[in-house]
Formats: sequence, structure tokens, C-alpha cells
Amino acid sequence: MAMPEETKTGCSCTGDEKHEHSEVEKRLGWHEYFMSVAHLISRRATCTRGHIGSVIVRDHSILSTGYNGAPAGLPHCNDSNCRIYRSTHPDGTVEENCVNTIHAEINAIAQAAKHGVSIKDSDIYITASPCIHCLKVLINVGIKTIYYDKPYKIENIDELLRLSGIKLVQVNMAHNQ
Ligand SMILES: [Zn+2]
Ligand SMILES: [Zn+2]
Repeated sequence: MAMPEETKTGCSCTGDEKHEHSEVEKRLGWHEYFMSVAHLISRRATCTRGHIGSVIVRDHSILSTGYNGAPAGLPHCNDSNCRIYRSTHPDGTVEENCVNTIHAEINAIAQAAKHGVSIKDSDIYITASPCIHCLKVLINVGIKTIYYDKPYKIENIDELLRLSGIKLVQVNMAHNQ
């Protein structure tokens, strides 16, 4: 019986043999799959401060995606340079952000809202951990678990994570490549 095309790809075995495929041929797990998509999406980002991508997922299906950049139709940082503002947290730490830019997580939520897609009880994959402002919105739209790759000022969100019960889990792609 002919094997399905997918089973054959990348390996000369018949599928009946029990053997370990090499790292190159190993099938991606779900977390790596969605985080890889988030990294691909981050390549559309336009803010020169950093390129972030996000993917909202439920039941292994992508519901919405976003990357950081200026609102539709407005000049991107690529063209007009970032405009940085500083805000001071109650503990005295100073945060810098770009006034032009909507963060990747908020853009994914906006895309879902625009198309009437419910994202309640979904998860989000983000190439970096969320800032405190995005975390507040993620809590209120009903995200259950936030998967992130690189930590970003993660100490600023400790208290909010503890109080809200939303889960934050690292999917470090450096360990999966
Ligand atoms: Zn910018
Ligand atoms: Zn943010």
C-alpha cells in the first residue's frame, strides 16, 4: 500500500520500521509550530525598536495574528523613525516605548475584533513576553496561556501575573533548533 505523501517526506523508511528520525527530520511540536509562525510574522514588523510577532490560537487553529507597527495608513517607523516616550513605573524603573507603534498582541486582538472572531479561552504565542499594558488587555479578552520566546522586562509583570492567574510559559526556540 502506498504511504501518504506526508509520511514519506524527508525519510526513506517505509513507516513500518521503529527508528528515530534525525533532528532535521523530526516533526515540529505544536508549541514550536505556533512560535515559528509568530517569528515569521515578526518579519512584517516596522518599528525599528524591535520586531515582534504574535499568534492567537485555540484548539490548534490560528484565529488571528499581529505584528508591531503603526496604525493602517499612517507612516511606519521604517520611513519616519521611532518617536520614543518614557514612562516611570511605581517602583522607579523607566520604560521606553515608541509612540507610533501598536504592539503585536494588540494588533492580533484588533484583527480578531475587526472580523468578529471570538478569542475567549484562547492562547497566544508571542516572540517576546508582553509589556504590562498588553498583559492587561490579554487578561480582559480571556486569554488563558501566554507562550513567549524571549523575556522582555518580565519583572514588571510579576505582580499582575500573580493576581490575575493568567499563565505565562516560555517556549524557547533556541532550544528547539
Ligand atoms: Zn517605532
Ligand atoms: Zn505591549
